[in-house]
Amino acid sequence: MRFKNTIIRMWPAIVAMCCTTLSAAETAHPWSDTRLSPDRRAELALAAMTQDEKLKLVFGYLGSDMESKKYTRPPESHNQSAGFVYGVPRLGIPHLWETDAGLGVASQAGPNARPGTALPSGLATAATWDLDGAYAGGAMIGAEARARGFNVMLAGGVNLMREPRNGRNFEYAGEDPLLAGQIVGAQIRGIQSNRVVSTLKHFALNDQESGRTTLNVKIDEAASRMSDLLALQIANEQGQPGAVMCSYNRLNGVHACENAYLLSEVLKQDWGFKGWVMSDWGATHSTIPAANAGLDQQSGMPFDLADYFAAPLKEAVLNGWVPQSRLDDMARRVLYAMFAHGLVEAPAAPPIDAKANAAVSLRDAQDGMVLLKNQGGVLPLARGVKRVAVIGGYADRGVLAGGGSSLVYPEGGNAVPGLEPKTWPGPVMYYPSSPLKAIQRRLPQAQVRYADGADPAAAAALARDSDVVLVFATQWTGEAFDVPDLALPQGQDALIAAVAAANPRTVVVLQTGGPVTMPWLAQVPAVLEAWYPGSSGGEAIASVLFGEVNPSGHLPATFPASVEQLPRPVLDGYPQVEDRRFDIDYHEGAAVGYKWFDLKGMKPLFPFGHGLSYTSFALSGLRASVNGDVLSASFTVRNSGKLRGKEVAQVYVAPLGAQWEAPKRLAGFKKVDLMPGASATATVTIDPRLLAMYDSASKRWKVAAGDYRLTLAADAGADPAASVVVRLREASYDVNGKPLPR
Ligand code: BGC
Repeated sequence: MRFKNTIIRMWPAIVAMCCTTLSAAETAHPWSDTRLSPDRRAELALAAMTQDEKLKLVFGYLGSDMESKKYTRPPESHNQSAGFVYGVPRLGIPHLWETDAGLGVASQAGPNARPGTALPSGLATAATWDLDGAYAGGAMIGAEARARGFNVMLAGGVNLMREPRNGRNFEYAGEDPLLAGQIVGAQIRGIQSNRVVSTLKHFALNDQESGRTTLNVKIDEAASRMSDLLALQIANEQGQPGAVMCSYNRLNGVHACENAYLLSEVLKQDWGFKGWVMSDWGATHSTIPAANAGLDQQSGMPFDLADYFAAPLKEAVLNGWVPQSRLDDMARRVLYAMFAHGLVEAPAAPPIDAKANAAVSLRDAQDGMVLLKNQGGVLPLARGVKRVAVIGGYADRGVLAGGGSSLVYPEGGNAVPGLEPKTWPGPVMYYPSSPLKAIQRRLPQAQVRYADGADPAAAAALARDSDVVLVFATQWTGEAFDVPDLALPQGQDALIAAVAAANPRTVVVLQTGGPVTMPWLAQVPAVLEAWYPGSSGGEAIASVLFGEVNPSGHLPATFPASVEQLPRPVLDGYPQVEDRRFDIDYHEGAAVGYKWFDLKGMKPLFPFGHGLSYTSFALSGLRASVNGDVLSASFTVRNSGKLRGKEVAQVYVAPLGAQWEAPKRLAGFKKVDLMPGASATATVTIDPRLLAMYDSASKRWKVAAGDYRLTLAADAGADPAASVVVRLREASYDVNGKPLPR
């Protein structure tokens, strides 16, 4: 009997010994055996590498010629790409071909940009509150990256929106750590389903662009763990990215890419990150401090002052200033991620299905549009309407995209070429998906006329002579600069006011990088926030305006009524002065976005979580249950209107005794799709970190004993639909939110 059991237990090993033959490659290259763990494979490959081969893996190049620096890209790189790192072909370790970014396969500026499918902005995807949709978008852009010959995608941007003027907010996922972390984590998983490594970036607290390479963020440790770092931590857990990109800025005096606290303590030790840390392009400032602090790979030569991780690193290791074990660790981490994410085997990529990919982008854009206001039933537009005015925003030609390294070049080229700035961080890009044409296609019998809005009087005259008016307003934002304030630029506020005065049936369609102010809001019955809606954006906008798609996006960030309401009414370091060093004091700590507004008792223009629908919903039946220390909330959502639609039910939690950074936090959410009259019951399990305060001294998340109020609401500002009080015991969790023994 005992013998029989032994045989059964050993059976897999016996089969492996007698019945599998090793291929020639596996015998010569034992690390190519896919049955071994990625750790083991990395170890075996590392053992076969020379010192120079290890050094190659930790030094990256720009994949694009750079006239100003007399730089020519490595011939093996893909032209106009972000990055390239030499692999070790002798050992079957491929090169790394790196492409930006989170919205699709981007190109560095130049004459031969590769066309790609652009997702709507990251903020739009966050506004969907739909993790499956975020995954699908990631899977789509990852597939395009791979089909274009890339195996690393510089995606996964999750810098928290502390600063609504930040020029890169459009690349990120808003102001809440739970929503942002989960959305970006899902996108990373999607990208990496393609044998492509995704980064998570920018690590950490690079929350504005003005002075981004020199600014120094001052923030309390616990506050950062409960805000920006929590968003990154959740994205890391959900997405398991193969790489992390450290950021340009300094944190508490030390540049992020040589910040031992960030790289070695938080990321590698506390979170157990096993992949590699690459620097942002131009974010490495040293050899020995950077390598010893935990930077694994210098990126983007020639952006840095020196090739720190080339010959100087070799010398530093020879002299023992950087231990050999550290260089081994750096190379091992790159290898680990390559094995873990299937880069080494990579069979031929499936071809790009442009039509299917456009549909993914279209859906993401549709689901992320936020109907901010809709009075008097002006939307959805009636099919019988006779005279429609479409005004401004180059709506006759296309839809706006954000600027900088994330820019995806569309098939068909820029719909509005020649706008300033034409060079970095430009070009200003409009995707050739015209809202006007999409509207005209839906109204073949009507008179649909366009005015470019340059002359407000002419636009008002057209508006007066129309049954309904659609004004398109745009705000171009991008990398390397912030916007001076939250106003729409180029006199568009005055244009909207003039048009609305001429015709009260005026609908405003916004394409903005983030929140804007709306001095004309009381004058217009409807506002649709379309963000940067991606390469199918014109069609997406029209489908929502006409009610073919019922809007279901909810704001992933608060829209302030004015900059006076922000923690820093004046933006530090703006306007930018080259090389200036300055501090930013994040005195609000973890009270970011709606938490800040709650704390100060301020009413924003539109609260976090807000979003209307063409149908109506009733939220009810909130119940809390505590199982051990695990808190869950269940509730019912009913479609109480006449159209099919999707609602985002949000659960907030507020301590009645304990003191948090702010009165309440988003604790869970669920998006449900309901037919008219139908109901759904949902349950969310609450992450204990969202019930706790982080304690720096013990590195624990501590839940205070006492009463907590859970509320069920349609946004962070509204009177909640239901609330329930639950009593929790005192409890402690480790740095990753895992329960500790009592
Ligand atoms: C950006 C990164 C980007 C890199 C490569 C930098 O300017 O900050 O997000 O991935 O360039 O293009």
